[in-house]
Amino acid sequence: MGLTSELIAAAPEAGALFAKLRADEAAVWVNPAVAELAVSQADRDEIQRAADRFARFEPLLSRLFPDQGWAGKIASELTAYIDPPAGLPALWIKGDHALPMTGSIKARGGVHELLCYVERIARDEALLEPGDDIEKLLEPEAQAVLNLHSVAVASTGNLGFSIGLVARALGLNAEIHMSIDAKEWKKERLRALDAKVVEHECHYTETVARARVASTGGQRVHFIDDERSRDLFFGYAVAAREIAGQLESEGLTPTVDRPLVVYLPCGVGGAPGGVLFGLKAVFGSAVIGVFVEPTQSACMLVAMALGGREPVSIYAVGLGNETIADGLAVPIVSGFVLEKVGGAIDAVVAVSDAQMLDWVRHAHRVNGLRLEPSASSGLSAVTPLMAAAAAHPQMAERVGAGIHVVWTTGGALLPDEEFDRVIKG
Ligand SMILES: *Cc1c(COP(=O)(O)O)cnc(C)c1O
Repeated sequence: MGLTSELIAAAPEAGALFAKLRADEAAVWVNPAVAELAVSQADRDEIQRAADRFARFEPLLSRLFPDQGWAGKIASELTAYIDPPAGLPALWIKGDHALPMTGSIKARGGVHELLCYVERIARDEALLEPGDDIEKLLEPEAQAVLNLHSVAVASTGNLGFSIGLVARALGLNAEIHMSIDAKEWKKERLRALDAKVVEHECHYTETVARARVASTGGQRVHFIDDERSRDLFFGYAVAAREIAGQLESEGLTPTVDRPLVVYLPCGVGGAPGGVLFGLKAVFGSAVIGVFVEPTQSACMLVAMALGGREPVSIYAVGLGNETIADGLAVPIVSGFVLEKVGGAIDAVVAVSDAQMLDWVRHAHRVNGLRLEPSASSGLSAVTPLMAAAAAHPQMAERVGAGIHVVWTTGGALLPDEEFDRVIKG
């Protein structure tokens, strides 16, 4: 951590932000020089392949989760937020909290990686002949083969929960490594599905490291690496096309002067990074990407404020990773995401647990939304972002004129008792 102290010494203005985080006050880092995102043709092809893969699997997913009144299409609504409190702009909600199967944004990246793995097994084990329906993978012979394979993953709860749920439905075995933050009901639900749950008494980053070691070299085991995976990242990126179509239907066309201001809750960075990557691929600089974190787990803010060239532990600046937003309780951001999109992030906002809770309640009372605290963080970030933008000439007018979209990333599957506990504080 010698290097970290050098970084901190070289960025005195970051020190004031870190002091705010330690005091649990909202803090905003504004990128002084947003980089144009270089999206190569290879990247565009990869997004297209991910979209095609989701489409191929639609009939199979709708058979696996038939009670959800859907056609296997992983998509969420874009809706107007009713009666935002005074002083806020008109807000749109991108409702991934209600995504099918997982009730969280993990239905995009996490499920995409599972589909990639199932396709590889199907190819290597010749489970499908050319022209076969994808549903053939649900027949006993194919299922017997899939059941010889496993996925392993480490998580603060939501990724593990989502991967376990869908992997078991697909016929794969699942080994889920849970960090100390993970909620009991998620573990119970997974055990009931015959997934193996491995509990770790440590934070998320250490849990990933342990799970990576435990899964390496295993026969027929695929480790889903939340810190490094391209398949996760590009699964998330597909969401950009979906919202582009929805904005168009609403008659909203983002431009550089009237940009899409999008609030993306950030844990390790894969979900918001992938979505922002997709959005910048579609809209270029007509997007202002705002990542949102809890004050006590603000790993992206800390890394960006210290130059954005490498991940830095939040512990090195005196934060403790304790937050009610279990989906975002990550002490060190993904180096892969930092490299891929870090420079193109326009701002990072950190919000307190109290602010997230206020918004869980408002969203429930006024809009009937069931959000978990991680997912309400984006709502909490609007006021601090607007205030900070006012002090930055390059942002003030654009943010003022912008189309504000808050990505609500999870919550629909919270059991009633859990949700009531959150609502009551
Ligand atoms: C996973 C998750 C996020 C953030 O995703 P990362 O890839 O960890 O950055 C945000 N909100 C919810 C509810 C999540 O489950």
